[in-house]
Order: sequence, then C-alpha cells, then structure tokens
Amino acid sequence: MVLAVKSAKRPLAERLWAKVIIPENPNDCYLWMGAKSHKREGQKRPVIWTDDGTRNAARIVCEWAHGPPPTPKHEAGHTCPTGENEICVNPRHLKWQTREENEQHKVRRGSSRSPVDGGVPHTPIANPDSASTP
Ligand SMILES: [Zn+2]
Repeated sequence: MVLAVKSAKRPLAERLWAKVIIPENPNDCYLWMGAKSHKREGQKRPVIWTDDGTRNAARIVCEWAHGPPPTPKHEAGHTCPTGENEICVNPRHLKWQTREENEQHKVRRGSSRSPVDGGVPHTPIANPDSASTP
C-alpha cells in the first residue's frame, strides 16, 4: 500500500502526530486524541481521514515503523506493556500480526478467559462463604 501524498494539504504524518499525546517516556503508550471508530463491541480504533478515505491510524504508524503488512491478513496489533491499548499508536507497541496471533496474545496476557492465569493454578472454590474475600 502506497500512501497517497497528493499535495497542498499538510503531510499525513504531521496531521497524524498532531493528534497524539506523546509521553515523556517513549516506552509509554502514545494516546490517540483524534477520531475513533468502533470496531467490535467495546473496542475502539484510532482513525484519520486521508486522501484514500478513513484509515486506521495505528495501521498507518505500523506501516511507517515496520513497512507494509507481510500479508493482507495481518493487522496492526498492540503489544503494550500495560495490556492492549486500542488507542495507542506508539510504533514500539505496534506490530503486524494476524487475527489468530492477536487472539493468542490476549490469551497469554490473560485478558481473555483462559486456564493459564499467570502461573497460578485455578483452585475451585472450596468454601463458597469466603469466595468474595481475596
Ligand atoms: Zn501502547
């Protein structure tokens, strides 16, 4: 995918970064303050208007940082240390991954239900009376 730079208007990079809060620590998440669209339930993605229409800003940043996606199945995935931050556009936190890899990632991090929970085995609730006490 070639980014269309058609003149006159400010360059896409300039417009894009103007919508981002860049933290002092470059390893923290870069928060997208621009428009967001809803992808799936409860999820948002950063979007920016370009000459090619509305595009996912995280995907654009991922292209800049890592080149075009290896296959059309790859999406800009988040590897934020604090967990997947849908509106983060830090190039360090973005990588190309397929939906399957993305799902595996979530399972590893425990953000979706899985039997592996940080190495702590799940104990069945032996005493329902104390279930709510940590
Ligand atoms: Zn991040």
